Amino acid sequence: MFNITIDGYVGCGKSTLAKGLAQKLNFKVFDTGAVYRSLACAYKAKGYGEVNEESIKDFVSKVTIKVIFQKEGQHVLVNGEDYFSSIRLEEISMLAAKIAPFQILRKKVLDVQRQFAQNNDCIMEGRDIGTEVLPNADVKFFITAREEVRAKRRYDQIKNKPNSPSYQEILDDLRKRDYADEHREVAPLKAAKDSIIMDNSDMTLEESIEKCSKIIEEKRAKSQIQPSI
Ligand code: C5P
Repeated sequence: MFNITIDGYVGCGKSTLAKGLAQKLNFKVFDTGAVYRSLACAYKAKGYGEVNEESIKDFVSKVTIKVIFQKEGQHVLVNGEDYFSSIRLEEISMLAAKIAPFQILRKKVLDVQRQFAQNNDCIMEGRDIGTEVLPNADVKFFITAREEVRAKRRYDQIKNKPNSPSYQEILDDLRKRDYADEHREVAPLKAAKDSIIMDNSDMTLEESIEKCSKIIEEKRAKSQIQPSI
């Protein structure tokens, strides 16, 4: 299988880039953040309250995760429940970042991720995909953008929705989540040594897709060349 990884900071457009590339190159996309977000929804729904070692252990011991693909995209079933409509709430973003550092929970997600990559040509996006989940992936990208640019993009996306947070609140949340992702002991956010680092602060989505797809096509062509006998 041909596997591509996209890792990077909060709100730097990893999902949008992955979707654009998948459409252009006919790959499947696996959004791993959606798995952590769905787990956060299930954790909240079960009424666990404060996040600690004990509660996570209990939660993980009973949890099942299934990823399915429907017309509108990827859905994650946690214990058979689909939390699709709630996973993007700001409150869930913060809770996902709180439960994500626990090794026991990550191990559960790791198995689902690796199984998917073994069976599909795919683009998998998240935080630790190039470093921990698929260290032998064929092409790895690490995406970054200035934090003010990322906060502004997010603000523009949601500013007309009811009860949407202010630009400053978005910027603060983004900084907190980046800090938590970069400084956790287990699977911290960092660029894999063999990743291609791309700052898209001053690039359009089309430019990012064009640049990445060129790199992927070149790598793919090389991997398809049969050695002459
Ligand atoms: O990418 P997204 O913002 O949807 O991810 C939600 C949260 O899940 C992140 O803030 C991060 O803490 C966690 N996450 C992770 N590892 C991944 C993907 C997401 O720890 N591979």
